[in-house]
Amino acid sequence: NRLANNFQFIDVGRNDPDKKPLQTRRTDYVEIYKPFTKSQVAEQSHRCLECGNPYCEWKCPVHNFIPNWLKLVSEGNLFEAAELSHETNTLPEVCGRVCPQDRLCEGACTLNDGFGAVTIGSSEKYITDTALAMGWRPDLSHVVATDRKVAIIGAGPAGLGCADILTRNGVKAVVFDRYPEIGGLLTFGIPEFKLEKQVMTRRREVFEGMGIEFRLNTEVGRDIQISELMEQYDAVFLGMGTYTYMKGNFPGEDLPGVYEALPYLVGNVNHNLGFEQEPEAYVNLRGKRVIVLGGGDTAMDCVRTAVRQGAEQVICAYRRDEENMPGSRREVKNAREEGVEFLFNRQPIEVVEYFGQACGIKVVETELGEPDADGRRRPQPIPGSEEVLEADAVIVAFGFQPSPPDWLGDVAVQTNDWQGVVAEEEQTYRFQTSNPKIFAGGDMVRGSDLVVTAIWEGRQAAEGILDYLGV
Ligand code: FAD
Ligand code: SF4
Repeated sequence: NRLANNFQFIDVGRNDPDKKPLQTRRTDYVEIYKPFTKSQVAEQSHRCLECGNPYCEWKCPVHNFIPNWLKLVSEGNLFEAAELSHETNTLPEVCGRVCPQDRLCEGACTLNDGFGAVTIGSSEKYITDTALAMGWRPDLSHVVATDRKVAIIGAGPAGLGCADILTRNGVKAVVFDRYPEIGGLLTFGIPEFKLEKQVMTRRREVFEGMGIEFRLNTEVGRDIQISELMEQYDAVFLGMGTYTYMKGNFPGEDLPGVYEALPYLVGNVNHNLGFEQEPEAYVNLRGKRVIVLGGGDTAMDCVRTAVRQGAEQVICAYRRDEENMPGSRREVKNAREEGVEFLFNRQPIEVVEYFGQACGIKVVETELGEPDADGRRRPQPIPGSEEVLEADAVIVAFGFQPSPPDWLGDVAVQTNDWQGVVAEEEQTYRFQTSNPKIFAGGDMVRGSDLVVTAIWEGRQAAEGILDYLGV
């Protein structure tokens, strides 16, 4: 009854899905969380207060109708919940897995006031995973096809968000990607223990069923030219991500035994998937002492990959304190459980060398000083606190900068002083670039950020394209 509903959050505490045993987690490339069962999701989603002003929706970058689909799933209306969830999100099952919910929807839940937030992410994942497994597919029966077609460069979350909205409005979306599978960093970056790869394979089949066309293994600028796309399509969307590795600029960074984070992760994913082309791209750290420098999601993925490869010791060294780490708290906790050691307030000074090979890293302790331009407190080295941490391998995970292709100039697309493509949301045609026929979104516009923000920008750019095409 209604009264019982109102007090569900008192009677039932927040419960996350169970995790697989540590033994499996430390060796296997499988998602560590077990799926919710039907009764678990009903019980947990029922905890939602329907508080009237859902802060969770505001904080969610795609503004999901969270209380509404929680109510639907709690009442057993799974397909309706899936349909509603797809009204605002292109990849709900992915966001349910990889969004840092503690900083977004769940961080804003009213029940954080002593009761524990509703498990929004896990419920979102359950709804789409289960509905798709039971045969539900997005309903596009009402869509009237137009004769317009748009080329999308990049099959990452931004490109997929754009393709989704265009297709739902009768515009043909043709997506080009240089990789052999869709997903961008979802497939070739984020490791399987956060997101198993069959999730994206299944999603490609769903998109193909909706009428989206994928041209994979096709690099624009090499296999097909931008001039051809400009001629053949009514508009072009750029969602090509950020791939320029940010260097630490300390001595020894180029020594053998020092690795860049993303190639290390991509090499491992490709090895696991059987896509490996050059054997040297796969780095196996079995039996090694590994130090990962950095404190974001990429650093967490590196330490946890090294654990699964069988590294003897894995340390994450970060220049600020735990409170100021940019990565998801959930993933730091998971890394710790899996045996990763954390050294906070350590800034690298140089890679230490032994016969031309990295054998450790010299670090200095830091304390946090005044806030910088982003409002984050700047680490200050403490003189005399230097020490050498021994290591057989050092992985540098300091983030990425946009890597716009040379051909952008040929089509007069402007970039800013940090190489991001200039495309604003607040203008007549959302996310239009300096070339009126070209739109852009995701990491290549905002710098490396989140899956959900890339999806949002791709979807918003599609709205801009629809307005531009007069559809
Ligand atoms: P991408 O995902 O990078 O996709 C760009 C696509 O464009 C790629 O498929 C690429 O092949 C293609 N492309 C580029 N140039 C061309 C060309 N010339 N021709 C054809 N195709 C081209 N975010 C989270 O929310 N949660 C996480 O847990 C998380 N973990 C992460 C872990 C790692 C290791 C990394 C690197 C990032 C992580 N992120 C995470 C960030 C998130 O993955 C990105 O913000 C998001 O993928 C950006 O989406 P995008 O579509 O802009 O770009
Ligand atoms: Fe939360 Fe991300 Fe889902 Fe939004 S998309 S409800 S932020 S998990």
